[in-house]
Amino acid sequence: AQWLNCDVRSFNYSVLGQFSVLMADPPWDIHMELPYGTMTDEEMLAMNVQCLQTDGVICLWVTGRAMELGRDCLTTWGYKCVGEILWIKTNQLQRLIRTGRTGHWMNHSKEHCLVGIKGDPKINHNIDTDVIVAEVRETSRKPDEIYGMLERLSPGTRKLEIFGRAHNTRPGWFTLGNQLPGTRITDPQVRELFAESYPDVPID
Ligand code: SAH
Repeated sequence: AQWLNCDVRSFNYSVLGQFSVLMADPPWDIHMELPYGTMTDEEMLAMNVQCLQTDGVICLWVTGRAMELGRDCLTTWGYKCVGEILWIKTNQLQRLIRTGRTGHWMNHSKEHCLVGIKGDPKINHNIDTDVIVAEVRETSRKPDEIYGMLERLSPGTRKLEIFGRAHNTRPGWFTLGNQLPGTRITDPQVRELFAESYPDVPID
C-alpha cells in the first residue's frame, strides 16, 4: 500500500505515473455538515487529473446536487459516463437502513458512484452487477466491496484513490488525501519523481 498526505488542489499529479483505475470520493460542497473541509465546484472542475490516465476507468462518488456536477466533472476531465454503481445501505442485521443519517426530504438508504471511461481501457466486461448491498460504517466511509469489484474489472493494475483516508489504503492502490498519516511510497520511479518535485517532504 502506498499513500501521500497532500492537498489535491495543488498536488503535481504527474509524479505518480499512470493508472488503470481511479476512484474519488470528493468533499463536494453540498451544504451539509461534514467533519472536514469541502471543495468548491470550480476547484472540483479544475482538478488536474488529465495526466493520470490515457485508457482507464474512473469511479466518482456523488450525492445530492453533485450527481449533476459530478457528471460535468467527468466530461470536463475527459471521461464518458458509462454507468452508475448503487450502494444499498444495510444495518448490522443486513436489513435496509431506514433511519438514514443523511437526506433532507427522504432518509437516504443508498449512495451513487458514477462510472466513467477514457480512451480504450482493457477491462473485463460484465463480471459484477452495478449494485452493492453492504453495511454502513463511519460517516462518509464507502464499502470495501468496491475494491473487489475494481480488482475483478482490472486485475493487477495500478490503481489510485483520491480523497482516501487511512482505512482506504491497501496493496495495489496509491491513496491521496489530507487526513493520511504522512507519506509512504515504495515504487522507485514515483519516489524519484516525488523527491524531485517535493524535496522538503520526507518519504517513509
Ligand atoms: N471514501 C472515504 C471518505 C472520503 S471523505 C472513506 O471511505 O472513508 C473526503 C476526504 O477528503 C476527507 O478525508 C477530507 O479530509 C479529504 N479532503 C478534503 N479536501 C481535501 C483536499 N483539498 N485535499 C486532500 N484531501 C481533501
